[in-house]
Amino acid sequence: MATLATLQNPDTSTADDWRTAADSLTFRQRAFINGDFKDAESGKTFSCFSPLRKSPLADVAECDEQDVNSAVAAARKAFDSGAWSRTDPADRKRVLFRLSDLIEEHRAEFALLDTLDMGKPISDSLTADVPEAVSLFRWYGEAIDKVYEEIAPVAPGNLAMIKRPPLGVVAAVVPWNYPLDMATWKVAPALAAGNSVVLKPAEQSPLSALLLAELAVAAGLPDGVFNVVTGFGESAGAALGRHPDIDCLGFTGSTEVGKFFLRYAGESNMKRVWLECGGKSPNVVFADYDNLDTVAEKAALGIFFNQGQVCSANSRLVVERSIKDALVEKIAERARALRPADPLDPETRLGALVNQEQTDRVMSYIKIGREEAKLVVGGERITLGESDCYVEPTIFDGVASNDRLAQEEIFGPVLSVIAFDSEEEAVTIANNSPYGLAASLWTRDLSRAHRLSERLIAGSVSVNTVDAISFTTPFGGLKQSGIGSDLSLHGLEKYTSMKTVWIKYED
Ligand code: NAD
Repeated sequence: MATLATLQNPDTSTADDWRTAADSLTFRQRAFINGDFKDAESGKTFSCFSPLRKSPLADVAECDEQDVNSAVAAARKAFDSGAWSRTDPADRKRVLFRLSDLIEEHRAEFALLDTLDMGKPISDSLTADVPEAVSLFRWYGEAIDKVYEEIAPVAPGNLAMIKRPPLGVVAAVVPWNYPLDMATWKVAPALAAGNSVVLKPAEQSPLSALLLAELAVAAGLPDGVFNVVTGFGESAGAALGRHPDIDCLGFTGSTEVGKFFLRYAGESNMKRVWLECGGKSPNVVFADYDNLDTVAEKAALGIFFNQGQVCSANSRLVVERSIKDALVEKIAERARALRPADPLDPETRLGALVNQEQTDRVMSYIKIGREEAKLVVGGERITLGESDCYVEPTIFDGVASNDRLAQEEIFGPVLSVIAFDSEEEAVTIANNSPYGLAASLWTRDLSRAHRLSERLIAGSVSVNTVDAISFTTPFGGLKQSGIGSDLSLHGLEKYTSMKTVWIKYED
C-alpha cells in the first residue's frame, strides 16, 4: 500500500493505495500572500470538511478584510514593479510552462485534494481535472507570445496603436465544483496577460489552490504576483468585491452571488466584473435523430457527471413526444447502473456531493419532484461509510416547463423530462429559463440544426453531442448565466485593457 510519496503510478493505484495516501496527506492551511504562507491576521481558522469524513480535514486560515488588504497591496506592489507585468512574454511563457510541469508532477496530490475536499471520483480528478489544469497553463503560456496588437488605419504622419496591456490587480472568486480547474480558468489567462492575481477559492474546497500557489512561486513567479486568500464569501469574497484597488474581478459561482459582485463594483471603484454563473441547460432531442443509444449515453453523462454539480449540466431533457418513453427508458437503464460509491476507488463513476447542506438541498428538490412529476428512477439518499452525501441518479418525467424542477438550478444528479410536439414548442420550452449557459440539440436535419442553434438562447450550443467544450472556444453565458466568457484567446481579452496610443510623427 502507498503513501503519497510512494504512490508512484497513480494510474494503476488501487482504492486501498488511494485511501492510505489520503491518510498520509499533509495540507497547506495558511493563506498565501506575497510569496509566503501566512496565518489570518485575526488568527482565526475555519474547519475544512470532506464529504467523505465526519472529522474535519484541516483548519484553514479564515481571511477577512485585513488579509485581503495585505494580498491586494502585495499584488499591486508586484504589478507596479514590472517584475512580471513588464517582462518579455517569452519569459512569462517559460514560467507558465514550468508551473504546468510542476502541476503534472504533483498530479496525484492535486487529484486527492480535490476528491477529498468535494467528493468527486478520484479517476475524474486524475484523468480530467488535473490534466485540464496542466494543459491550460501550457495553452495560455503558449498563446501569450503569439498574440499581436493592432495598428489602426489613420492618416499619413500618424501611427495609432491599439494595445492590450494587463489591467493590474485581478481578483478571482471561484466555486467548489471543480476547485483546481475553475481557479485555473481565471488564473492562467490573467497571469499570462501580465496581471497580478488574488484568488479566493470556495470555503468548501480551498486546499488545491494553496498547493497551486506554492508551485507557482517554485516555477519562478515573483512574490506577490499570485496570492490566495482562504475564507468565506461574506467576508473575504465581499472584501475583494468592494476593494478600491482591484481593477478586475472574475467570478464563477451562483447567479445570486454574481449579482452581489455587480453591486460591490458599483458601490466601490467600478472594477470590471466578469461573471460565470448558473444554468439550467436544455438537451433538445428530435425524433429524426435515429441513434437513441448515443443520445442516452450522452444525456446520462450530461446530467450525472460530477454528481450533476456542473454549471452547464443538461438538466432538462426536452424530447419529442414520439420517442420520449423509449429514450427515457434508455437513460434510466444507465442511471440504474450508476451507483454512488467510494470516491477514492478508481472504479467509482459517481461520487459524493460536496457536503450535507448541498445534499439536503438536492433532496428537497427531489421531494418537490415527487409532488410535481413522476419519479422514473432513483430519488434516494445513500449512506456509505461515514457519509450520507450520496444521491442516486434521479429522473423525473412529466415535468411542466414552468415547474420549479424545470426552472431552478438543482446542482445535483436530477434530470427533468419535458415532452414537445413541434419544433416551435421545443424552442419555446428550451428558452423558457432565466439562464442561458448551454444547450444541446439532436437532429439529423442540417437546416434544423442551423435554424435552432441560432434561436436557442445559450452561450454554447452543442449539436449531436452534449457540453462540447475546448480551450479553443469561449465558454460563457447569456441572460442570468453571466457576463463574458472564459477559455480561448478571447479569455485573455478579459484581463487586458484596450488602449489607444496615437503618435503624430509628422506635422
Ligand atoms: P457560490 O456562488 O455560493 O460561491 C462561489 C464563490 O463565491 C465562493 O468562493 C464563495 O465563497 C463566494 N461567495 C459566496 N457568497 C458571497 C458573497 N456574499 N460575497 C462574495 N463572495 C461570495 O457558488 P458555489 O455553490 O460555490 O458553486 C455553485 C454555483 O457555481 C452554481 O450556481 C454553478 O452553476 C456555478 N458555476 C458556474 C460555472 C460557469 O462557468 N458558468 C462553472 C462552475 C460553477
